[in-house]
Amino acid sequence: MKTPILEVQNVTMRFGGIVANRDVSFAAERGAITALIGPNGAGKTTIFNCITGFYRASEGRILLNGRNGPQDIGQLMTRPITGGSHLVTRAGIARTFQNIRLFKEMSVVENLLVAQHLATRNNLLSGVFRTRAYRAAETEAVDRAYFWLSQMNLASDANRLAGELPYGRQRRLEIARAMCTSPALICLDEPAAGLNPSETRELSEVIQRLCAEHDLSVLVIEHDMGLVMRIADHIVVLDHGEVISDGTPDSVANDPAVIAAYLGVS
Ligand code: ATP
Repeated sequence: MKTPILEVQNVTMRFGGIVANRDVSFAAERGAITALIGPNGAGKTTIFNCITGFYRASEGRILLNGRNGPQDIGQLMTRPITGGSHLVTRAGIARTFQNIRLFKEMSVVENLLVAQHLATRNNLLSGVFRTRAYRAAETEAVDRAYFWLSQMNLASDANRLAGELPYGRQRRLEIARAMCTSPALICLDEPAAGLNPSETRELSEVIQRLCAEHDLSVLVIEHDMGLVMRIADHIVVLDHGEVISDGTPDSVANDPAVIAAYLGVS
């Protein structure tokens, strides 16, 4: 494996007496698509929330080997953070959500400008600091927004209200918004949920294109096994909060422990 972009090391996450993740370790390769799968309640979302700064892990370390060198994401957190961590975004991790969270009353392009504002602290939407530097940053942000809209086949929707877009387009808008922050790693939480087969195909092409053309690393939670097997370079399987298998799609699909977990056999 090349240098991992992400290393999850011995992460345990407890909620009172409930252990949602126990001693979870895995690595995600740079420029590759890593899928996190497992039956309902396996602990996928919880580990995602630790990686993206929504939770602070009870134990363990999460390392991002980003442009600024290895960073301990856990060290970025001085306290538990709810509602997302701008520090994690600035460290180079972006995410989407299982339940779409767009600013539905704002236009499509404004959704992308807000994301950049949060990621950079630039007051892009305000007229207060209209210095030359801010105007340049604003122009750059608008250009970047249109670039990512076109990459997601959404350019023609730029001025529509986000809430008016069909569901499949809202899913792609979430990815465009995450890409606007120039992440090294993007974490997609069930991106195919609620999509029809043709929207799912379009989504898999988009994800593969992002990886191939933009030096992006992807971590994806997904229940759609067709999509996972089509796009993943590497699969990590969780069950009852623990990693039970980790390898190529073929090796994981043929792993008796995985077959047993999905069939409910212990
Ligand atoms: P699904 O595929 O159904 O989304 P999942 O694999 O994402 O499931 P998690 O949502 O991470 O699983 O949940 C793992 C376990 O941790 C479950 O038993 C869940 O009830 C528990 N859990 C998750 N979040 C909390 C919380 N905030 N408080 C208490 N228990 C929680």
